[in-house]
Amino acid sequence: MKISEILGSGKVTVSCEVFPPKKAVDLEQVQEVVRQIASYNPAFLSVTYGAGGGTSQNTVKIAADVQRLGIPALAHLTCVCATKEKIAAVLQELKENHIENVLALRGDIPPGVEFPTPRQYQHACELVREIKAAGDFCIGAACYPDGHVECEHKDDDIGYLKEKVDAGCDFLTTQMFFDNNVLYNFLYRIMAKGIHVPVVAGIMPVTNSKQIKRICALSGTTLPPRFRAIVDKFSDKPEAMKQAGIAYATEQIIDLISNGVNAIHIYTMNKPEVAGKIMENLSEIIG
Ligand code: FAD
Repeated sequence: MKISEILGSGKVTVSCEVFPPKKAVDLEQVQEVVRQIASYNPAFLSVTYGAGGGTSQNTVKIAADVQRLGIPALAHLTCVCATKEKIAAVLQELKENHIENVLALRGDIPPGVEFPTPRQYQHACELVREIKAAGDFCIGAACYPDGHVECEHKDDDIGYLKEKVDAGCDFLTTQMFFDNNVLYNFLYRIMAKGIHVPVVAGIMPVTNSKQIKRICALSGTTLPPRFRAIVDKFSDKPEAMKQAGIAYATEQIIDLISNGVNAIHIYTMNKPEVAGKIMENLSEIIG
């Protein structure tokens, strides 16, 4: 099923993200994570794709597992290190596995990884155009409520986002954010620029304080004082951090739904128990 149809239903939807294993030996473990998350019946399940190729070979395999479990899969695809031939081959593989949804990304160049010279892709909009031409895919792309870390001016970032959407995006998924007002402001600004595709709000339940500080530094996501206080308070108590992280994410989601943001995406970090707790907390709200 296409994600555009799911989002177009007007219902509240909660979807989840998983990432493939870094090492082939861990494949079964990730497949078990997928089975557990699928049992919570997310609206769809997205599977990330390593920009440098490292974890990419299992993306289609795991996305195919997701579909076999009866859940629509969204396969991520990055182009920064890819050749045109490689992208065509992955799209063919997706078609063979009846995967209709692709998240078209540029990706970040991982340190130490070679990319083709001359580089064959500069920006995600080029990939969007290619996927659009390659078949009947439902195409998503990334957007950044706090602004993309490489873009100096948020207005320019939104201008490029408009170009990407016009290239053929059916929906957008946001980078994680911890202050809902940042998202509301972003939604207002993109609408003013003529971007009207559905936006799926990406929520990261923070269960590890060190990890979140590193991710925020890399991604440019701001931590509001209320959230920073939680991270500082519980950084030495992993179980308390987990409980507080789940509670914060739940509150964020309830506020979003109350304000008309119907599509929520949980960055599960391959922790089914965290996704499960949030789903349980929302059972009457999304039921
Ligand atoms: P782009 O849309 O190309 O934007 C990148 C930068 O270039 C921005 O600063 C933008 O303003 C600028 N730009 C865009 N178009 C132009 C243009 N025409 N001219 C000049 N400047 C331009 N990474 C992975 O490796 N694997 C994943 O599976 C993955 N999944 C993700 C899922 C989500 C929901 C999000 C939000 C991010 C994900 N990422 C993933 C990270 C993503 O690859 C990085 O954030 C990357 O730096 C940007 O990718 P993009 O597709 O947004 O790039």
